[in-house]
Amino acid sequence: MAARVHIRHEMAIRRLTVSHIEQLTPSMVRVTLIGDALNDFASSGPTDHVKVFFPDPVTGVLTVPELRGDGIHRPTSGVIISRDYTPQQFRPAPFGAAELDLDFVLHSPTAAHGNPKDPAGGGPASAWAAAAQPGDEIAVAGPRGSREAPQDVAEAVLIADETALPSFTRWLDLLPETTRITALLDVADEEVEPYLSAEQLARASVEWLYREDGPGQLEEAVRSLELGPDVYVWAAGEASALIPVRRYLKHEAELRPDQLDVQGYWKRGVVNRDHHEPIDPSDPD
Ligand SMILES: Cc1cc2nc3c(=O)[nH]c(=O)nc-3n(C[C@H](O)[C@H](O)[C@H](O)COP(=O)(O)OP(=O)(O)OC[C@H]3O[C@@H](n4cnc5c(N)ncnc54)[C@H](O)[C@@H]3O)c2cc1C
Repeated sequence: MAARVHIRHEMAIRRLTVSHIEQLTPSMVRVTLIGDALNDFASSGPTDHVKVFFPDPVTGVLTVPELRGDGIHRPTSGVIISRDYTPQQFRPAPFGAAELDLDFVLHSPTAAHGNPKDPAGGGPASAWAAAAQPGDEIAVAGPRGSREAPQDVAEAVLIADETALPSFTRWLDLLPETTRITALLDVADEEVEPYLSAEQLARASVEWLYREDGPGQLEEAVRSLELGPDVYVWAAGEASALIPVRRYLKHEAELRPDQLDVQGYWKRGVVNRDHHEPIDPSDPD
C-alpha cells in the first residue's frame, strides 16, 4: 500500500513581490517572490499547488479575494484572474526575507519572451510571467494542504510534461533515497532539458520524449515499462494526452487506486481548466 499522509494548512492569501526572474530554458521562467506574509508558508507535498492571482492584463489592477473569519469573500469590483501553480522551492529565512519560487511555462506567443513553438497557447498567467519584472505584485493562496510522498515504496514512476516539471523536482527531493525512480518526461524538444540539474538527473532513470518527434510516444513508453507489483505511478500534464496512459495503467496494468495518481494540469483549448474535473469523463476516479 502506497500511503500518502495528508496534512491540512491554515488558509492564507498572501500578497507578494517579485524579487528575481531567471530564464531557465527558452520556454520556462523562474519567478522568485518575497514578502513578510511568507513567514508562515508551508508546503511539504510533491504535488502541492497554490492559486496565483494575476493583475487584469487590461487595467493592470490586481484583484484578490479577501479572507475573513467566516471565509473567502470576492470583492465587489475588479476582475479576479487566478491559475494553479506548484510551489517549486520555498526558502524560509528566520532572519531575512523568505523566498518562494514558482516556475512558469511560457506558452503565450504574444508575450515578450513567449514560446513561438506553441502558437496554440496563450493565457494571462503565461503572459504575466513572460513580462514579469522585479517589484511586480501578485498574490498567492494556499496551499490548503499537502499530500506527502509515500515513504514505503521501492519503485516509483513519474511522468511529467513541462507544467509538471516543478512537481517532478519536488518528488525527487521528497521520495526516500531508497525509492528507485523512473521518469518519462514528455516535453516539446531538447531545449527543455537544462531545466533539470545534473544532480536531479542522477536521482532518476530519465527518458526524455520530444513531442516534436510525433504523437503516441508517451503511451508507447509507458507500455514498455516493466512495472513491479507495488510500483507507485504519478503522471501530470496535458489532460487529453494522459487519457490513454491512465487507461493502460488502470485497466491493463491493473494498478490499484493507491498506486496511481494521474492529474490533468491543463487541457489544450480550455482556459483555466479545473483540475478537480476527471481527465477522462467516460471513466472518472
Ligand atoms: C496542481 C497544478 C499545478 C500546476 N503547476 C504548474 C507549474 O508549476 N508551472 C506551470 O507552468 N504550470 C502549472 N500548472 C498548469 C497551469 O495552471 C496551466 O497551464 C494554466 O492554464 C496556465 O494559465 P494561462 O493563463 O497561461 O493559460 P489559460 O488562460 O488557462 O489558457 C489559455 C490557453 O492556453 C492553453 N494552455 C494552458 N497551459 C498551457 C501550456 N502549458 N502549454 C500550451 N498551452 C497551454 C489553454 O489550453 C488555452 O487554450 C499547474 C496546474 C495544476 C492543476
